[in-house]
Amino acid sequence: MTSYITDKAYVNGKWLSTGKTFEVYNPFTGEVIGSSADCDGKVAVEAIQAATEAFKTWKELTAKDRAGILKKWAALIVEEKRALGELLTLENGKPLAQSIGEVMFAANFVEWYAEEGKRTYGITIPSPHPSKRMMTIKQPIGVAAMITPWNFPSAMITRKACAALVAGCTVVLKPSEETPYSALALANLAEKAGIPPGVFNVVTTSRENVAEVGKIMCTHPSVAAVSFTGSTATGKILLQHAASTVKKMSLELGGLAPLIVFNSADISNAVKGAMASKFRYSGQTCVCANRILVQSGIHDEFVAAIQKAMEKELVMGHGMQPEATIGPLINEAAVQKVENQVADAVKLGGKVVVGGSRSKIGKNMFEPTLITGVTTSMKCCFEETFGPIAPIIKFETEEEAIAIANDTTSGLSGYVFSGDVSQCWRVSEKIEAGIVSINEGLFSAPETPFGGYKQSGLGREGSIYGMDEFMEVKYICWGI
Ligand code: ADP
Repeated sequence: MTSYITDKAYVNGKWLSTGKTFEVYNPFTGEVIGSSADCDGKVAVEAIQAATEAFKTWKELTAKDRAGILKKWAALIVEEKRALGELLTLENGKPLAQSIGEVMFAANFVEWYAEEGKRTYGITIPSPHPSKRMMTIKQPIGVAAMITPWNFPSAMITRKACAALVAGCTVVLKPSEETPYSALALANLAEKAGIPPGVFNVVTTSRENVAEVGKIMCTHPSVAAVSFTGSTATGKILLQHAASTVKKMSLELGGLAPLIVFNSADISNAVKGAMASKFRYSGQTCVCANRILVQSGIHDEFVAAIQKAMEKELVMGHGMQPEATIGPLINEAAVQKVENQVADAVKLGGKVVVGGSRSKIGKNMFEPTLITGVTTSMKCCFEETFGPIAPIIKFETEEEAIAIANDTTSGLSGYVFSGDVSQCWRVSEKIEAGIVSINEGLFSAPETPFGGYKQSGLGREGSIYGMDEFMEVKYICWGI
């Protein structure tokens, strides 16, 4: 695993030293894991130029040939899942089982897109003119710049990069400064799999240089598409940058997912779903239940059941401890945000039923927390939490729940737990979000589209739609 820790970036098929480095920390211990190349704008331009050159030949390969290389990459990731999982736990803190799960999820994107790249069909269009024939083909858009976050340091990369690569595009990736090693490990295996120089580049950079590098990636005339996952605030900056050269943008931004439990729900299944959605990776996922709405008829029973589940199933610890299910938050700022939300809820009348404080068992640890009596004026209801707080809002009617669920500028995902089929349909159609999960807490799969309504983003990742972000549709008209 330590062989993947490198202070070099990966540009044009070469491992590049930049002279300057920044440090990467283990979020549980606070110890330095290693240093990482601090690339500046010059290196970003070099990577874009390499990707531009490589695009000329990569786009000419058949989809079958590209698939062959990607399948080797997928196989290598699977072979290395333990080492990659340990690396992921080291830099991001998530419990090892979840890290290995993410590595497998990352490999599944590589494999699925390798296959799906063979099916970028155009259409033939019934012509309205007797002397003309009409058709479309799809073509790769060009160099794709990608900026990824720390919460899924492997899967967010392959979900974006493989859609682009199989379409025939080349990639310049900037991973999060918190988790550069998982990205570099993927580059290492991409190289071994035979991905040619310049096709997949990884430019690591410190927080100090990120604004400069990010701006270049979003304004350079040779970049055709930008794909970003991260905070809504950063997404808006990048969208503005990209306007000057009209790049195709896909943005996966923040969420504020409602999880609604109706009176008719199977309570134990609703608790299972809420636990999985809320506490996976300590609540640091953009689709995790941010607001848990529970109908009055089952409110007390649900609260008692989730309290019991939290006390039994959630074990805080270092991600390498086999029993740990709750690891650290990513950094001190994240802990402060969660602490602030709990204090705000308590000030406004919320009741802490479980947890509520920092834990001293490690750095950046916050206790899994259950708060009841939550109202929509509390920060935990209108500010994305990104931490292990489960706030319970009691509601009376379906209309009220839908109104609360939609009272936000975010619209990434939502969850409905109900035993009434008609209600499931009605509510899932009314929730303003790109993803609705019914009677189920975990929904992600490479085969399905991921993306948001409203300010949660633009475009879709994964699924047959994911490649559209990296392809142009060309209409060809034939006179006969
Ligand atoms: P978080 O606060 O959760 O880290 P960010 O949106 O700040 O969310 O980070 C997500 C990704 O965006 C990371 O790779 C980060 O380095 C990058 N990033 C942050 N600010 C900028 C910026 N101004 N330009 C380009 N990328 C940025």
